[in-house]
Amino acid sequence: MKTPAELTQLFRDRGFKVTPQRQCIFGVLHGNAGHPTAEWVYQAALAEMPTMSLRTVYQTLNDLADMGEIQQLDLGTGSSRFDPNVDSHHHLVCESCGKVRDLYADFRRLTVPEAARQGFTVGSAEVVFRGLCDACATATPQ
Ligand SMILES: [Zn+2]
Ligand SMILES: [Zn+2]
Repeated sequence: MKTPAELTQLFRDRGFKVTPQRQCIFGVLHGNAGHPTAEWVYQAALAEMPTMSLRTVYQTLNDLADMGEIQQLDLGTGSSRFDPNVDSHHHLVCESCGKVRDLYADFRRLTVPEAARQGFTVGSAEVVFRGLCDACATATPQ
């Protein structure tokens, strides 16, 4: 993801108004590896800027996703997650607490057999590994 200053310039180049609220959201997302939900981004931005609105957060996330600066992911955790890492990568997902981590692994040998392709030309694949994070795996069972 580009820096908040670069994103500000990019938005202005496209004729979008860049408010201090939007710049605050850029700052919250920059370098954020936690794959936050919109609600999480809202709470983090609100802590810095009491005039933040959830509507502004959704609008800004949608604009960033449309521009390819972030990825919107549905990882089966209940709400969309937003990923400022737009490199090709995979994910580890904790089924208990919803923690998401980037996973870099070589899946070039992951292929779809000709007979199963149903006429599709396969360009890419994203793999989601589900399980328990360290904290959840070591937590005392109820
Ligand atoms: Zn967990
Ligand atoms: Zn990711």
